[in-house]
Amino acid sequence: MTPTEFEALPLAAPLQRALRELNYQTPSPVQAQAIPLLLEGRDLLGCAQTGTGKTASFALPILHAIHSNPRQVRPKSCRTLVLAPTRELAGQVGKSFTTYGQHVRFRQTLIYGGVGQNPQVSAMRGGVDVLVATPGRLLDLIEQRAVDLSSVEFFVLDEVDRMLDMGFLRDVKRIVSLLPSNRQSLFFSATLAPNIVELAQTILRNPARVSIAPETTTAERIEQQVCFVDRESKKPLLEQLLRGQADAVEGKLTIVFSRTKHGANKLAKSLCAAGFPADAIHGNKSQAQREKALERFKKGLTPVLVATDVAARGVDVKDVGLVVNFDLPNEPEAYVHRIGRTGRAGADGRAVSFCADDELEYLREIEKVIKMPVPRWDDHQWHHEALAERHLRIKTGGGKAPQSQGGRRQGGGGNRRGNNGGTRDYSNASGRQNRRGPASR
Ligand code: ADP
Ligand code: MG
Repeated sequence: MTPTEFEALPLAAPLQRALRELNYQTPSPVQAQAIPLLLEGRDLLGCAQTGTGKTASFALPILHAIHSNPRQVRPKSCRTLVLAPTRELAGQVGKSFTTYGQHVRFRQTLIYGGVGQNPQVSAMRGGVDVLVATPGRLLDLIEQRAVDLSSVEFFVLDEVDRMLDMGFLRDVKRIVSLLPSNRQSLFFSATLAPNIVELAQTILRNPARVSIAPETTTAERIEQQVCFVDRESKKPLLEQLLRGQADAVEGKLTIVFSRTKHGANKLAKSLCAAGFPADAIHGNKSQAQREKALERFKKGLTPVLVATDVAARGVDVKDVGLVVNFDLPNEPEAYVHRIGRTGRAGADGRAVSFCADDELEYLREIEKVIKMPVPRWDDHQWHHEALAERHLRIKTGGGKAPQSQGGRRQGGGGNRRGNNGGTRDYSNASGRQNRRGPASR
């Protein structure tokens, strides 16, 4: 049985109160499935996309346990350890614990790199109930004997796929080796590739599995579109999109993804020059710079944020109405993470991807992962029909189609929109997918 209301869950009164104040009524699917299992003390392997409410699914049962069983914590120790891949994400998880636990007595702190370690060392001195950390700095502090993991009761690995992408596998294994074996472990990842499952097996004991299919999260709420264009046309197309966005939805924010740090800087600059206040965040910027840029973005002072994948990790801003993939990511999972930046907390979102000649292969991989074709949006002057056709041929015919075929053929009559007779077709994949596309004119 999965409860349909938070009130039906056996969560302690101070948590119920916080949820009422936050106006959370219905648990998200992950929460409805995971919370009862976690309250029973089970280990958990959770597979769910971003924006599905994973944080509350682990924070609430952990806070419940801390509240029901308060305990003196030993110096430098923690009862709960949450590992997150980036500082931003760790910060958000910490904030969520504070919010959900606002009526619970507990102590927590954050540990992450890029800032001085002394405040973190002092914060750990008396021990905490909840420690949220990124792996690298945590290991540093453990080596300096400023943190002791021997009394961890709850261990959470959040966004494991991203953690591995970032090269944290060894660090994670080392941290796990320092944990007591008698603990409850939770493992969350957007994808469960074989190497991830393998890692999970070494950490979890008889885990319950909770899985939320990507179809219900990404495809349903977020309107996805792909534009086939030449590389040079991407900038003018982006500007047209931003103009349309500003007219259509006042106060909505846009995140533009770039594959490289250099590209992100250049693009932000050129957008500013074109009259769209924009800022860039990426790994080369200091923590302070990134925080400042995020603050300005959230306030709408710079309503366009150009980001690389790593920097945008865990950015949870409610009013992101549009995500633009200026470059397609070369790993398909990143696509799912990127578009998850919009449509947060049940809001509608739109994700537009630009696909140039050298990105057709990436698009194909993405469509395999999301198990649906990304609907085309051709209704702009830079549309490159031959690319669109090549994409279709790659998908249906298998292998690469010769470049000379198709050319810039516009197709006869209705063909222009991709209704290519017997070939698989975007426009009828789902009625709602073309809401803002050509069909809606
Ligand atoms: P994830 O970690 O899966 O990406 P988060 O835990 O960050 O997702 O939650 C995404 C957003 O949804 C947050 O802004 C959070 O406050 C909100 N949220 C989570 N659960 C609920 C709920 N049951 N009702 C309303 N909003 C929720
Ligand atoms: Mg999360």
